[in-house]
Amino acid sequence: MTDKQNQGWSLENTYQQLPKLFFTNVKPAKADAPVLAVYNEKLAAELGLDSSALKHEAEIFAGNKLPEGSNPIAQAYAGHQFGSFTMLGDGRAVLFGEQVTPKGERYDIQLKGSGRTPYSRGGDGRAVLGPMLREYLISEAMHGLGIPTSRSLAVATTGGTVFREAPLPGAVLTRVAESHIRVGTFQYARQWGNKKDLQALADYSMKRHYPEIAEDENRYLTFLYKVADKQAELIADWQLKGFIHGVMNTDNVAISGETIDYGPCAFMDQYDRKTVFSSIDQQGRYAYGNQPGIGAWNMARFAESLLVLMDEDEEEAIPKAKEAVETYVQSVEAYWLDGMRKKLGIIGQSDDDKTLIRSLLDLMEKYHADFTNTFRALTLQQLDADSVLFQSTAFKEWHQAWQDKLESQTASLEEAYQLMKRHNPSIIPRNYLVEEVLAAAVTEGDYEPFHALLTALEDPYAYTEEQEKYAVDPPEQDFQTFCGT
Ligand code: AMP
Ligand code: MG
Repeated sequence: MTDKQNQGWSLENTYQQLPKLFFTNVKPAKADAPVLAVYNEKLAAELGLDSSALKHEAEIFAGNKLPEGSNPIAQAYAGHQFGSFTMLGDGRAVLFGEQVTPKGERYDIQLKGSGRTPYSRGGDGRAVLGPMLREYLISEAMHGLGIPTSRSLAVATTGGTVFREAPLPGAVLTRVAESHIRVGTFQYARQWGNKKDLQALADYSMKRHYPEIAEDENRYLTFLYKVADKQAELIADWQLKGFIHGVMNTDNVAISGETIDYGPCAFMDQYDRKTVFSSIDQQGRYAYGNQPGIGAWNMARFAESLLVLMDEDEEEAIPKAKEAVETYVQSVEAYWLDGMRKKLGIIGQSDDDKTLIRSLLDLMEKYHADFTNTFRALTLQQLDADSVLFQSTAFKEWHQAWQDKLESQTASLEEAYQLMKRHNPSIIPRNYLVEEVLAAAVTEGDYEPFHALLTALEDPYAYTEEQEKYAVDPPEQDFQTFCGT
């Protein structure tokens, strides 16, 4: 039952049981003229919130009014940004508290873009409507795809102007996540706290995300393994869906294993391992093909921050930590291989699967084939006669070998194609579509295309007729996204 009196809020503030070092009490800044631009009624229901009143509550989602039970904070953290270590923190985010859902789950409710905090450095603490709508759309699409992610509850415009390269409309996003504890939070504790602070953070994080190991004797090493395994599964999932995060800095790696921080992220169109969209990633550090390896680098940073807890003698802990990172490397490959088998309808395992998979990907790269639509066409058994990939001799040979494989399986062809349907999305939030719907919303105030795309992305595996218009090959484009605006 939701509590209608208080809109269903059931907020706790357990993060504030941690040492003061980890947060600062801060209130969101006031907005001049809040208007609720988008509101996620389905997510609100899952959280136990009562939308009848809340869906008109621009004041809460713009930061003018605190929900019942909120004692807001900004969280401290650090991180390696493009390889360099720096002090960070919630520069423009304020945590309302943790909503305990009717099922007993705990979710952070956080405003992003609600003004300066003690961690803002030179920033204004504000956010712009376009990028906040973009985060809303992409994060909800990720959820639809079945990829662990922070969610978006609302976007409110503030009525204020934010100055970037031009004056732009200000907005606040309400983000929902299992928590905002990051690898960077541990790096912060290691750098600026003592061993007790670090231990408090680790024990708190385990109780919240990995309660099954919270009492174990060797729990800090097990914790490293658990987090690394979640990362392996997550990053493999990104690879399988063609998602490029864009800023895999250690402050953007959530201990919960959720995708967080949608800045210059995008989905790849043509398959190319070097694909990068971020305008600030000049070296291609976070290119598509590098993501699994960067995950290992990030896990090594996480391991370093835990060494003092793993063994009295840090030197003794190093080989154990190394082994955990090596396990991650094997796991990310194993999760990926398992997912690729499903994308191709392969049931069971054999040694030559990897060769079959790799040769398809190599051909896709050679012929600049669209990643999503190649798997979509294979799933629907509709190989376009105009496609240079599908018409190539090399592909025809590959296709025969693949068909032979499917026919030799004990499972039926029908089962194989059903499996493919569940693992190959018929649509993704393609860059040109996202740009189109954002332009309509921001410049014309027309949210109709935004909502239509959002609805189509709710179940990208449905293969409905309505989804078809979003599935056509995209126009050739040179697309870039700009970070943190
Ligand atoms: P991000 O690139 O979003 O992961 O942010 C990196 C750091 O910069 C974090 O400490 C953010 O909180 C902070 N930050 C990003 N944008 C702003 C802004 N407009 N105002 C203040 N702090 C910001
Ligand atoms: Mg970040």
